[in-house]
Amino acid sequence: MSGVGRSMVLTFDDGPDPRYTPGILETLRAYDCRAMFFVCGEMAVDNQDLLREMEADGHVVGNHTWSHPLVPKLKPSRIRDELGSTSEVIERALGAPPLWYRAPYGAWNRISFEIGAELGMEPLAWTVDTLDWTEPGTGTIVRRVLDGAAPGVVVLSHDAGGNRSQSVAALRRYLPQLLDAGYHITVPRR
Ligand SMILES: [Zn+2]
Repeated sequence: MSGVGRSMVLTFDDGPDPRYTPGILETLRAYDCRAMFFVCGEMAVDNQDLLREMEADGHVVGNHTWSHPLVPKLKPSRIRDELGSTSEVIERALGAPPLWYRAPYGAWNRISFEIGAELGMEPLAWTVDTLDWTEPGTGTIVRRVLDGAAPGVVVLSHDAGGNRSQSVAALRRYLPQLLDAGYHITVPRR
């Protein structure tokens, strides 16, 4: 990752979900910040307008498999299907396949790295987990992000997979605070 400096990366997994993703996009737009969205194919296929909105705003759309399985439990052919079909949906919507992917639950195995590489993607993990999917309260999500803030940090949140209204509300609070603290919210370049 170039130009790390005081930069941080915000990532949102499992979407897009028309109930929550637009709220995330709206906040990022208000502060002119770019983020990464690791989308699931089964969500992306019905929400290609949201993929296009992400790209139009300069966000990076990554591959988070089709159906969010535990990758190490799958046969190589299924892993290829999960990643390949999701890349196809993204390519159909955006005109280019994704350059990044993230395994559900952060559960990678050797063959999934090989298949990802064959599909032209780099894996991206995270360093700060907001555990927002447990719905711990907006304030707790905000505190986890601000406590974890440091140069080069990659924050994991979710814009789908359940009620994510706390995740949407939390971004509205922590994003201006990160910017006030001098952080540059960015996306990795390839
Ligand atoms: Zn996920």
